[in-house]
Amino acid sequence: MTRERIVVLGADAAGMSAAHQALRMAKQVGREIEVIALEKTVHTSYSACGIPYWVSGEVESSDELIARSPERHREMGVDLITGALATGIDRDAGVAHYSHDGVDKSVGYDQLVIATGASPIVPDWALRPNGQLVGGVAPAKTLVDGQQWIDLLVAAAGAESPRRVVVAGGGYIGVEMAEAARARGLEVTLLTRSAVMSSLDVDMSSRVEKQLAEAGVQVVGGAQVVGLEVDHRGWVTSVETVDGDVHRCDLLVLATGVLPATEFAVGAGLETGQWGGLRAQPDGSVASGIWAAGDCCEVRHRLTGDWTFSPLGTHANKQGRIVGTNLITPGSRSFGGVLGTAITRYVHGDTHLEISRTGLSTREAQAAGLRVSSMVTEGRTASGYMTEAAPVAVKVFADPDTRALAGAQIVGGRAAAKRIDTVAAALWSGASIDDLAEADLAYAPPFATVWEIVQLAARRLADSL
Ligand SMILES: Cc1cc2nc3c(=O)[nH]c(=O)nc-3n(C[C@H](O)[C@H](O)[C@H](O)COP(=O)(O)OP(=O)(O)OC[C@H]3O[C@@H](n4cnc5c(N)ncnc54)[C@H](O)[C@@H]3O)c2cc1C
Repeated sequence: MTRERIVVLGADAAGMSAAHQALRMAKQVGREIEVIALEKTVHTSYSACGIPYWVSGEVESSDELIARSPERHREMGVDLITGALATGIDRDAGVAHYSHDGVDKSVGYDQLVIATGASPIVPDWALRPNGQLVGGVAPAKTLVDGQQWIDLLVAAAGAESPRRVVVAGGGYIGVEMAEAARARGLEVTLLTRSAVMSSLDVDMSSRVEKQLAEAGVQVVGGAQVVGLEVDHRGWVTSVETVDGDVHRCDLLVLATGVLPATEFAVGAGLETGQWGGLRAQPDGSVASGIWAAGDCCEVRHRLTGDWTFSPLGTHANKQGRIVGTNLITPGSRSFGGVLGTAITRYVHGDTHLEISRTGLSTREAQAAGLRVSSMVTEGRTASGYMTEAAPVAVKVFADPDTRALAGAQIVGGRAAAKRIDTVAAALWSGASIDDLAEADLAYAPPFATVWEIVQLAARRLADSL
């Protein structure tokens, strides 16, 4: 009997979750399968999320970020080929084409999982005429990027002068890389096209901006980068924005976002959406015998039902596991969509700033044609007489007509941001603002105020509706 062959493209969070879950499920139901994974780099299953903390020096070695090495995947039954770049899919023949050591090869599949993730957006102004990145300019996407940043930041910190990093992009990776550069002792300017952490409402993102500025990060909003100046070595010396401002720098972090890495899939006639992501069904299928998971996909927003692009490890792992299950027992699991839940921090010196969000912002609700009311409540993360107590601001959102909870945003000190999970869990279950205001949440002085801040915020908004 020939074994059914599953080919997985991309061997990180989504791909390897799918591969191992398929192997586990096949064992459970007594089915013989073969799993082949093609990975273009030499790295597998690592925490990209940990890269900023490795770059900052908080995590000592990249080894600590690697959950499973290629050898470990092979020991666990995946036939993993590294240095294998998937280049195309012949759907009629059931064949994936790839390039390995410069040689074109192909592999037949019974089922194919696309898990190629996302690629950093590299604007034209960041490139030399030969298509290579300008010296001192790099994204922070892979372990190779991380090592490059460590080398650059350590060298810059050792230099006599100047020692300035510009971070282009004010999303969570921009904020985390700003923290890393400050931890390495460099001066940081954060340039952002709109506001820093623009997925928050302006009254919340302005709190982030203010605290970053107080912590010594120069934040410049409304600063769209249009060009670079380079020296005779081809090394960046300054960044120019659309309004003509010039920011001198020695290094430039590209934190300008990512887009789905789906070029080869488009060539195979698979449908992609507004961001170029595959639009999988809830079970993860994109076509007969073809599945997709992770950052290469667009996903449904659970509240609006609209497609969105939400490239996060938390989704990639879940989607990979769902695909792995459905590969063996079709239709048994489905992905429930995303709420836009996200969390980050900026910690340096005396500054401990935490930021999180879930659900709809005012702008997102308006774009979806939904009405939301909102209110900001300020408080503390613990009873005021405890040393743990840190300031926190919580903004909650609800539909004023149905009283359905719609989202929350949190900006505060230590232990503030993870409170967002209370709201996310309530949102996931379709709770009302009153449910959140009345739920039985934990209280003791070191952990919360007697009216837990999230609950207090919900109660105040509920009273106002
Ligand atoms: C600096 C940073 C910080 C982050 N922090 C967080 C966080 O705090 N929380 C969070 O939830 N998420 C975070 N993320 C996002 C998270 O890392 C990604 O969402 C997650 O890695 C996506 O997993 P994936 O398997 O879909 O894609 P990827 O991790 O991108 O993996 C795709 C794999 O496919 C390979 N590949 C691509 N094209 C091909 C091809 N043609 N042929 C063969 N192989 C190919 C790639 O080399 C890669 O190994 C962060 C990301 C970065 C970069």
